[in-house]
Amino acid sequence: DLEVAIKVVVVGNGAVGKSSMIQRYCKGIFTKDYKKTIGVDFLEREMQVNNEDVRLMLWDTAGQEEFDAITKAYYRGAQACVLVFSTVDRESFEAIPTWKEKVVSEVGDIPTVLVQNKIDLLDESCIKNEEAEALAKKLKLRFYRASVKEDLNITEVFKYLAEKYLQK
Ligand code: GDP
Ligand code: MG
Repeated sequence: DLEVAIKVVVVGNGAVGKSSMIQRYCKGIFTKDYKKTIGVDFLEREMQVNNEDVRLMLWDTAGQEEFDAITKAYYRGAQACVLVFSTVDRESFEAIPTWKEKVVSEVGDIPTVLVQNKIDLLDESCIKNEEAEALAKKLKLRFYRASVKEDLNITEVFKYLAEKYLQK
């Protein structure tokens, strides 16, 4: 059997919870060699989709998003994408269309999912539910509300992406 391996990029403004999400989902092998050589790193986790073994490689940025300087190496060969914004960061929500355009310009139209993280902080939310749903509809993306902190919907996000990728 040839195992399916999918490179997933997780993008969005700084501090929305991307690194936390990757670590939460994977708790796996830390490939620090990559970090040293090209300034990015990834964690991986295997899952089963329709009795098929699928390996997700979740690539993390080394905080370069703060400087709008994510390297081409980060995007190269990406096969799926998680777009993340935070419940308590209005700017991170407004930046989503730009992030999506950036990914499309680098790697084309790959399976993508929209995630509103930190849903545990809903009381302090600066984004209306209707707005988030309207954005997802406009960008034609499946939308999940999630909390890395409370481990809410994280597994579902990656399961959806893997399934979507295999459907192509
Ligand atoms: P990144 O810059 O997008 O990689 O974000 P980080 O993963 O470094 O997270 C930024 C901050 O948000 C950290 O203090 C995390 O502990 C916190 N954080 C991440 N996910 C959640 C969440 O679901 N809820 C809450 N309340 N905090 C979170
Ligand atoms: Mg990070």
